[in-house]
Amino acid sequence: MADDRKADLDAILRRQREAFTASRPESMNMRKDRVKRAMALLKDHSENLCKAMSADFGNRSVDQSMITDIAGTVGAGKHALKNMDKWAKPEKRPVQFPLGLLGAKAEVRYEPKGVIGILSPWNFPVNLAFSPLMQVLAAGNRAMIKPSEFTERTSLLMAELVDEYFTPDEVAVVTGGPEVAAAFSELPFDHLVFTGSTPTGRRVMEAASKNLVPVTLELGGKSPVIMGKSADFAKAGERIALGKMMNAGQICLAPDYMYVPQDKQDEAIQGVSDGVANMYPTLLENDDYASIVSDRHFERLQGMVADARDKGAEVIEVNPGNEDFSSANQRKMPLTILKNVTDEMEAMQEEIFGPVLPVKTYKTVDDAVDYVNENDRPLGLYYFGQDTEEQERVLTRTISGGVTTNDVIFHVSMEDLPFGGVGPSGMGSYHAIEGFKEFSHARAVYHQPKIDIAKLGGFKPPYGKASQKAAATMMK
Ligand code: NAD
Repeated sequence: MADDRKADLDAILRRQREAFTASRPESMNMRKDRVKRAMALLKDHSENLCKAMSADFGNRSVDQSMITDIAGTVGAGKHALKNMDKWAKPEKRPVQFPLGLLGAKAEVRYEPKGVIGILSPWNFPVNLAFSPLMQVLAAGNRAMIKPSEFTERTSLLMAELVDEYFTPDEVAVVTGGPEVAAAFSELPFDHLVFTGSTPTGRRVMEAASKNLVPVTLELGGKSPVIMGKSADFAKAGERIALGKMMNAGQICLAPDYMYVPQDKQDEAIQGVSDGVANMYPTLLENDDYASIVSDRHFERLQGMVADARDKGAEVIEVNPGNEDFSSANQRKMPLTILKNVTDEMEAMQEEIFGPVLPVKTYKTVDDAVDYVNENDRPLGLYYFGQDTEEQERVLTRTISGGVTTNDVIFHVSMEDLPFGGVGPSGMGSYHAIEGFKEFSHARAVYHQPKIDIAKLGGFKPPYGKASQKAAATMMK
């Protein structure tokens, strides 16, 4: 990347850090004002932002974007505004006996970290840049955002709007491709939040480690659906179809594959197919159904299906309107269910991130649990069924970023639950108080009383009887 572009990034960071340092301590009102401005930006320009997202995707429902990217993100701002006074309160902590009696005091103060970098992906381009921003600002930080190059119009519009609603030393958006992204991830931020794929997350963490920049990594993975025998397969199918078809499966938490009892496979597949047909009688000219974001992504998904077919999978296209997708040129792809999948297939090795749904079968639910445990820890895990004992068995024997039972994805929409992955699906989390703490420094503050504690505790030379007695007491 050109040296002057790097110098620009450095200059923005320096300017933000200087402004941050000079303005401390900042009032809660100032923080709230910034959160309100971020919310106003989204509300005032919601239509244009949704139109830009649709143009970037080829097609994406404006109504869907209004919910997922605008209202959902404004909701995160509202939640932060409502709770930030409480979240920011210093916490009194007990001191060891008898220090309290002598007047010692301890507390934890949640202080802003400084300048936080936000690197965001294309699949929910506004939400995944602005949701972390709400909490970053609530915690009293400044922010630099680098949105995805795949949703270029949306990224440029976000840059323009941020310029209008914030001074560059409060929030700045920088646009560009992977080179700018790589340079961005090398900046000596006070914290870096990355949302994107696991392979890129690895590179980001490596770059951040050079400056020991702490990272929050919101990555992807293969989020399984485990269906118990006691599941209502029609209802479950409808819910799985909704979660898999929204944004055409381009959701980090989309159900990636389904694990079903051997003798219920056809019922489970029928449930999902009916769910799709009920919501999307047609797909090609249906504005409710999103396109795949780029030719490259589209070809990748087609290749994944071809690979599965070549290796022996049965391929079922859920095409309720009997439309001809082969001659359509709009990157729309029907839900494609894969039966008889094996681990050798790409569809079982990579995160799918599109409308392809492999189905695996089990003899006992423990087979499914073992499979999940043998593979990378997923971002989400979904259990369907009425058997609470079985549900607990699945939950207590697996590990995942989050869980929704009897539905998919929904846990991310609960403002008071932390959202994040574990291991290869990510580290750290945001949303809820956990997000506020993620972007704050938990500073330990201890207030020493007038009395000479060191002498009293035997810590002060010359050592002797008092020290020996103190050590003995401490070990009692
Ligand atoms: P991606 O990893 O390709 O790109 C994400 C961001 O990283 C973009 O801004 C891009 O410019 C930047 N980038 C690219 N190369 C880089 C490099 N070498 N160094 C630093 N940054 C670089 O991801 P994507 O394709 O935009 O998004 C899809 C992925 O994101 C999926 O894996 C999905 O599961 C994941 N995702 C996770 C969450 C979550 O919250 N956990 C949410 C949405 C998407």
